[in-house]
Amino acid sequence: MIISVASGKGGTGKTLVATSLALALQNQELVQLLDCDVEEPDAHILLKPLFSHQQTVSIPIPKVDEAKCTYCGDCAQVCAYNAIAVVGEKVLIFPELCHGCGACTYLCPEDAISEEGKEIGILEFGQAEGIEFIHGQLAIGEIAAPHVIRAVKKHINRERLVIIDVSPGTSCPVVEAVKDSDFCLLVTEPTPFGLNDLTLAVDMLNRIDIPCGVVINRDGVGDSKVEEYCHREDIPILLRIPLDIKIARLYSRGITLVEGMPQWQEAFLKLLAKVRRILSKRKSE
Ligand code: SF4
Ligand code: SF4
Repeated sequence: MIISVASGKGGTGKTLVATSLALALQNQELVQLLDCDVEEPDAHILLKPLFSHQQTVSIPIPKVDEAKCTYCGDCAQVCAYNAIAVVGEKVLIFPELCHGCGACTYLCPEDAISEEGKEIGILEFGQAEGIEFIHGQLAIGEIAAPHVIRAVKKHINRERLVIIDVSPGTSCPVVEAVKDSDFCLLVTEPTPFGLNDLTLAVDMLNRIDIPCGVVINRDGVGDSKVEEYCHREDIPILLRIPLDIKIARLYSRGITLVEGMPQWQEAFLKLLAKVRRILSKRKSE
């Protein structure tokens, strides 16, 4: 089973939930945690894995053989990212804009384009007390986050329960990280901002047909609009984490809920049981 943990906006405690769930299950199941928040991975700060090795992630950047090129401009026309331009008898390539999609290489009528690898990030592999841990890190200044996310997800271990920490928002990297998940936990807070971003995230998940449930963090602040929205849309609220100074202190010291307050283990185990029930009900419908 693959469970992704997402949130419409940053700072809602998404990583706290992902890492706490992983730790709660640690002695019950084989768990793999993938941190796909590649622009700002931070699950390792809470989980403290022992890294064993790393791997670079590259994308193919076009390289033009001027001897074969007729300057027809087809490559520039097909590029959706304006990463290649033909100016007179010169083909200009802007590697920082290139997404490595390969369209220009494929469509060049003269077979004048070859590709060379450009490093855009790294993957790091480790273990945290039995939890298999992998995270991706997009290099500074690079934009092709989905490539790094795909590289992380190539290492999904189907023999384990997989938890994916997704970046905040609803943009391409989020869709790339959550797609193929069996279930998505949406972490939010009960405020107007939380509600606004939650509705966008739910809409995105509906479009890609991934069932979801909500975790309300900092329960007790704000208003009841998130709760009303969930009831209206028939979205289960699977866990509530109260606004609690002790939890905030733990988080600021890089300690997960389950590690700092072991009584939370039970709550996360119940959360997983509820997810399993929802999925089996969905399967039988
Ligand atoms: S499509 Fe090929 S031949 Fe045409 S301008 Fe681009 S590189 Fe040159
Ligand atoms: S590989 Fe794709 S993004 Fe890069 S220059 Fe070619 S068409 Fe544009």
